[in-house]
Amino acid sequence: MSTFQELGLNEDLLHAITDLGFEKPSEVQAKAIPLLLEEDKDLVALAQTGTGKTAAFGFPMLQKIDIDSRTTQGLILSPTRELCLQIANELKLYGKYCKGLNVTAIYGGASISDQARSVKRGAQIIVATPGRMKDMISRNMVDISKIQYSVLDEADEMLNMGFYEDITDILSHTPDDKSTWLFSATMPKEVATIAKKFMYDPTEITVGNKNESTSNVSHEYYLVNARDRYQALKRLADANPDIFSVIFCRTKRDTQKVAENLIEDGYSAGALHGDLSQNQRDIVMKSFRNRQIQMLVATDVAARGIDVDDITHVINYQLPDEIETYTHRSGRTGRAGKTGVSMVIVSKSETRKIKSIERIIKKQFEKKEIPSGMEIVEVQLMSLANKVHETETNHEIDKHLESINELFADTDKETLIKKFFSAEFNRFFNYYQKSKDLTVSESRGSDREGGRDYGKSSNDTRYFINVGRKDGFDWMKLKDFLKEQLELGRDDVFKVDVKESFSFFNTEKELQEKVLAFFTDFKHEGRFVNVEVSENKGRSGGGRRDRGRGRGRDDRRSGGGGRRRDSKPRGERRSSDSGNRTERRSSRRSDDNKSERRSNDRGDKKYNDSRGDRRPESSSSGSDRPRRSRRRD
Ligand code: ADP
Ligand code: MG
Repeated sequence: MSTFQELGLNEDLLHAITDLGFEKPSEVQAKAIPLLLEEDKDLVALAQTGTGKTAAFGFPMLQKIDIDSRTTQGLILSPTRELCLQIANELKLYGKYCKGLNVTAIYGGASISDQARSVKRGAQIIVATPGRMKDMISRNMVDISKIQYSVLDEADEMLNMGFYEDITDILSHTPDDKSTWLFSATMPKEVATIAKKFMYDPTEITVGNKNESTSNVSHEYYLVNARDRYQALKRLADANPDIFSVIFCRTKRDTQKVAENLIEDGYSAGALHGDLSQNQRDIVMKSFRNRQIQMLVATDVAARGIDVDDITHVINYQLPDEIETYTHRSGRTGRAGKTGVSMVIVSKSETRKIKSIERIIKKQFEKKEIPSGMEIVEVQLMSLANKVHETETNHEIDKHLESINELFADTDKETLIKKFFSAEFNRFFNYYQKSKDLTVSESRGSDREGGRDYGKSSNDTRYFINVGRKDGFDWMKLKDFLKEQLELGRDDVFKVDVKESFSFFNTEKELQEKVLAFFTDFKHEGRFVNVEVSENKGRSGGGRRDRGRGRGRDDRRSGGGGRRRDSKPRGERRSSDSGNRTERRSSRRSDDNKSERRSNDRGDKKYNDSRGDRRPESSSSGSDRPRRSRRRD
């Protein structure tokens, strides 16, 4: 079936679909909608995040309920406040031409009496989190005894979160003859149990392979010593100046800590987890959506269902306990036809998990090395050069030009360029020039790509090439492109690292002449492709392992607990150092006030693009740049 008309939806809904710009139904919609419209049946639908499940149950529900009645007829349970609001808002959009429709969202952290009032006004559909729903039932604030349709959305996640009893309790207040539609990305035992217990002969539909990840996401893993995890994260961010990412941690505590550290180190980061108030979470999500936050550090639960397109990287700071969860994480990127990268930082003891994940997602990981300091320096410099090149001239500067010109009267262009870039660039350079190698060698012979150990080879040439993601390349495509153009063998091009507007790759030294000769006069899609030998070798070889341990500048010095407050000037340490939960909360509260105060001097200016303010190291206290105003949550 190929159009919404053919699915049997009514005019009001089709009208809204046109407004929304949905051209054709997604697979889960094509399968579920006709089925649900036709008869009152129970349904189990398995489809991963981002496949359009909301509309798959939303349209049939909107069509089937009696809008002229003010009785609550549809109940949708979903695991988090964010999802609850997201679903309620979607439903309102879908039903914008259904006159008299009232969809009410019920969730914790907001006024219960407001919500009760909205229900009383005649909510035909309630979208609720289980906790608040149960609460309102016990206070007689809702009547769900006439429900005809109930939806368990993200059922696996609700069960993960321990809502089994709440759900059971809630459903016991609904009539037996209602239809139940269960939507889930995965089908663990617990979901099967729920289906068996609460549903009558459900029809099952599966979209795609259960748990399989989308094809436009590539998967990479980075092996590091556990104590270098945070440094590795920073390098991955620094090596991708245009990163817009979700970073997953296992616990709320780690989430908060990593976000705080990143903010302290000058990154535009924010934390999203269940210990934050509703208001704080809304603010974080808003900043993330407007790109004021470039790195959103989140727990699995809090990030579930977040619908933000254009996420370039998902970083698994820690792998999830349940490896199935990896699919949800990586599904945050590579949406809306874009490509994305899912990176995993692992320590040696976790490499086994990579193999298990590969089996689940049916894709291979590429083992990559944490970029060396010099690699990052080069990336940052080229990114800066690109940005300067693409900057539109601001003529407000004209009136000051005379004095600036005077200052540089004796400086030739070359020197001026050098000076200009040095001004921006020295921080990175100074920080990284003596940095140690974070890569850990895996036990022999387990490397991908034919067992080549790139790290040790000093016989490679590393190249810079001026095409990148924005030219439609990811590492696989660029590798294929190079192999094809240069007529090279399977393993001749390696260590391909694609950035936004440029990339790096390696070949054996013997091939250098051929590569450079080929690209002296080569056009791709009407543009000259320029390839140069890169100054750094990628990994320099030698001196790996633990040399310089405890001395390297980006080495973690504090040791215990993996905390990283080592090099902060005293006055900037926060009270949360003690790690005590209560204290952390109160420190956050006081930080809220601070960020409110700060928001004044920030004005409306976005600071997402001021990457120059990012300080690779918290102890670069010699830096006299203004600190980027911090945003807590
Ligand atoms: P899921 O619940 O499966 O994670 P959602 O229902 O949240 O997915 O949908 C993901 C996004 O896709 C939403 O922004 C939604 O508006 C959009 N979407 C849903 N159906 C379609 C469609 N048929 N065509 C285009 N976009 C759609
Ligand atoms: Mg959903």
